[in-house]
Amino acid sequence: MKKWVFSMALFATLGLQDSQNQLMLSHDDSHAPATFSVEDAQYLDPALVETRDLQVRGMQIEGFSGASLQKLQSAFKVLEAAVNSEEFKDRVLNFKNSKGEPAFASNKGFTNEQIYEQFMEGRETLQPQTPGEMNFYLRLYNRPWSRVIGYTSATTNTININWRFFRNYAPADVAANLAHEWTHKLGFDHRSASEYDSAPYAIGYIVGDIAKKLSSKPLHE
Ligand SMILES: [Zn+2]
Repeated sequence: MKKWVFSMALFATLGLQDSQNQLMLSHDDSHAPATFSVEDAQYLDPALVETRDLQVRGMQIEGFSGASLQKLQSAFKVLEAAVNSEEFKDRVLNFKNSKGEPAFASNKGFTNEQIYEQFMEGRETLQPQTPGEMNFYLRLYNRPWSRVIGYTSATTNTININWRFFRNYAPADVAANLAHEWTHKLGFDHRSASEYDSAPYAIGYIVGDIAKKLSSKPLHE
C-alpha cells in the first residue's frame, strides 16, 4: 500500500514537471560550462566589453524565516558578488556550447555578448522599469516527494523554491538556483531539463562555480 502511494506521488510530480519551467541541478561536473580560452581564435577579451553593476533585491520573500532567511541573505550576497565579478563576465562572453560554438543553446538569436549585456541590464520581462537590479519574488514551499528544485513561469514574478533541496543547500547552491530562475525572468528558456548549454542552465552553473570560490573567503559587507 505504501509503495502505491509513493508511485502516485512521483507520478503527480512528473506531471508538474512537464507543465512548468523547473530546475533540476544535478551537480554533475560533466555539465560544467566550457569556455574559450585566451589562446583560442574565438576568445573575446572581456576588457572590450563594459563592466556593469547589478544589485540583488529581495522584493517579496514568502515562507523563509530564521535560518532559511539567513541562508537566503547569504545567497543574495554571494550571487551579487558572483554576477559582478570579472570571471562571470569572461565566462559568459566566452561560453562555448556543446557543439563547440561561441553561443548558448536556445539563445533567441542573441550572441554571448548580448546575453551578458541583457543579464547585467537587469530588465526582467515583467519588471523592465528597474534596470541594474535583480528583483526577486520568492516563495519557499515544501514538496518532499518532488524532484523539482524550483520553478517559475513566464507570466509571474514569483520563483518557487522547494524546501526539500533548499534545506541542504549551501548559499552558493542557492545562488546558482536563483541565477537559473532569474535568467528565465529575462525571457530565456531551455527546451528540456537536460539542455545544459542553455542560458539558464549554463549561467546557473557559472554562478554556482564562482559563488563556491567566493564562499571560501569572506565577502565584503
Ligand atoms: Zn529552468
